[in-house]
Amino acid sequence: MNNPYPYSNDNKRYQTINYYFRNTYHQKVAKIPLNAGFTCPNRDGTKGSGGCTFCSSMGSGDSILCFDDSLQKQYQEGLKRMQNKWPDCIGFAYFQSYSNTYAPLETLKKVYDPFFKNPDIPGVAIATRADCLNDEIIDYLNSQNKEVWLELGLQSVHEGTMEKCNRKHSTKIVFDWLDKLKSTNIKTCVHIINGLPNESKSDMLETVKQISKHPIDAIKIHMLHLIEGTQMAKEYKEHPFHILTLEEYVDIVVDQLELLPQEIIIERLTGDGIAKDLIEPKWTIKKTIVTNEIDKLMVKRNTWQGKNV
Ligand code: SF4
Repeated sequence: MNNPYPYSNDNKRYQTINYYFRNTYHQKVAKIPLNAGFTCPNRDGTKGSGGCTFCSSMGSGDSILCFDDSLQKQYQEGLKRMQNKWPDCIGFAYFQSYSNTYAPLETLKKVYDPFFKNPDIPGVAIATRADCLNDEIIDYLNSQNKEVWLELGLQSVHEGTMEKCNRKHSTKIVFDWLDKLKSTNIKTCVHIINGLPNESKSDMLETVKQISKHPIDAIKIHMLHLIEGTQMAKEYKEHPFHILTLEEYVDIVVDQLELLPQEIIIERLTGDGIAKDLIEPKWTIKKTIVTNEIDKLMVKRNTWQGKNV
């Protein structure tokens, strides 16, 4: 069967980040995860303490910021690992852990300037909370002469769900920043989680429908991971809630892909839980099986990203 989806050069019926990078840089690009030692206002008591109930303490570290040497070392070692697999690969610096704009601008400059100034690094991706942005930070990021991405955690548009998850900011603030960032050169990616407690399939589809009304460049869709030691894991042990099966997750994701405009990059359809700490669902450990099942269902339904926009 021919693949009717236009932004793909393989069997994928949605736009992968690999497709985007290959088209933009004409070579393999990998995102090199970095931990600069930031913390999060939902952990240090400013907005809340204990963090979002699903968030593990991994990577919150000691909140000692890493500058120059140690960050450069993390980057070089990460790139080397990628180049063992793809020798010609170049690396985006990906500030993944916690809220990577949660510091004064002068501190952020010390962290980011060496990466912005390095001609071998094609771009920088920064994961953060929408309530850790301000105009000064945006002006700084927007003035860089390379690709800059901001990844914002949303998880769900439903305030009731997110109050119970202790997110401690509103959906509106995420959408307001996404709209505002459209007038800059900064690209945006939103993170969502399927399978949050008490959310129905229609709630999860509604999250994607509402996101689609905003000018995003990419989305990461994750399955909820119940991680040992988190507040949500504790709540689950006391009052178990439904955990999506692989079949349910795949069905929901395919419906969500149909609702997302064709130009949006689908950066992820699986999460990266650490197997030894993962309580549920165990099927998420085999990421290739999850993505294969999504591909298979899309072929079976003869559907593609954006079909129902
Ligand atoms: S998920 Fe993000 S915002 Fe929530 S506690 Fe963890 S780092 Fe902070």
